[in-house]
Amino acid sequence: MKKIVILTSGGDAPGMNAAVRAAVRTALAEGLEVWASHSGYQGLVSETLVPLDSSAMANCIQLGGTILKTDRCQAFFEKTVRQRCAHFLKSKLIDGLIIIGGDGSFRGATLLQEEGGPAIVGIPATIDNDIEGTDYTIGFDTARNTALSAIDRIRDTASSHNRNFMVEVMGRHAGFLALDVGIAGGAEYILIPEYPLTIDKLSRKMLEPSRKKMSSIIVVAEGENPGHTLDLAKKLSDKTGITYKVCILGHIQRGGSPSALDRKLASLMGHTATKMLINGIMNKMVALQHDQLILVDFPDPQQPGRRVPDKTLLDLNDIICK
Ligand code: ADP
Repeated sequence: MKKIVILTSGGDAPGMNAAVRAAVRTALAEGLEVWASHSGYQGLVSETLVPLDSSAMANCIQLGGTILKTDRCQAFFEKTVRQRCAHFLKSKLIDGLIIIGGDGSFRGATLLQEEGGPAIVGIPATIDNDIEGTDYTIGFDTARNTALSAIDRIRDTASSHNRNFMVEVMGRHAGFLALDVGIAGGAEYILIPEYPLTIDKLSRKMLEPSRKKMSSIIVVAEGENPGHTLDLAKKLSDKTGITYKVCILGHIQRGGSPSALDRKLASLMGHTATKMLINGIMNKMVALQHDQLILVDFPDPQQPGRRVPDKTLLDLNDIICK
């Protein structure tokens, strides 16, 4: 292993920079040449690699987003384009590729490998924490702290005015973010895609005679339809007569300076990814399982991503939110 390329792909997540920094500096310490492909796979498609030295990584550990830029590169879905990318990397004598991204990026990685691309190691990064094979993805902790701090502020108004709020957080297929910020933020209910609650059931709960709340917060995962909470609030108000203010947190949750946990885990994952490439590992993802960093296969694209496995935490919240 003499020359490697690093790229960040798919949705940005806080902590990506810490992973890049650790991977680059580990590679430099091992005597490797390191190059960046900017904007995900786009750098490979446009055959533009940028050299990275240690100073290129200065003052980036605290920054959100990704200094390597990221993109959803449509061209890379085409086999002929991937073949050209593999050929380009070979012509530049690139032996290894580190890809920091989500499920889609790893699917692209596997297909690039099939076209004769270099050895690839992936680092999971998405604020949704929904990648199969790892208990943790870079960016999740920062996003949940950002959402939690918003909920705390909303609670000040909710309690001062005796108002009810619905707060929509990110999470298209998986409710990990909603679940954690709901519990940590003292939400009365947490609605996640894995365990949908019908309007009828929710309104019955809100109308229970034993319910004594003057104000409350319901945390809702955005699901397939970001913004759907406005409609949900109206339907619930129509059924119960209780008015809900709605706050949709949206992309606020994606940005911001990474938390200590994200910086630390991203640094460890970046270091591990480079070490694994040097050790001849290929086509694996660095994963956290039971507090240990291990290597696993890239997630199976035929399978859905990681989902909240059971109702335990929702049931617990039902008890402690009363
Ligand atoms: P994420 O990696 O966060 O899941 P995407 O699903 O948007 O984000 O994937 C990021 C990029 O990975 C895509 O824009 C594309 O360049 C590449 N990619 C994703 N899926 C495929 C695929 N099936 N074939 C080839 N490239 C893919």
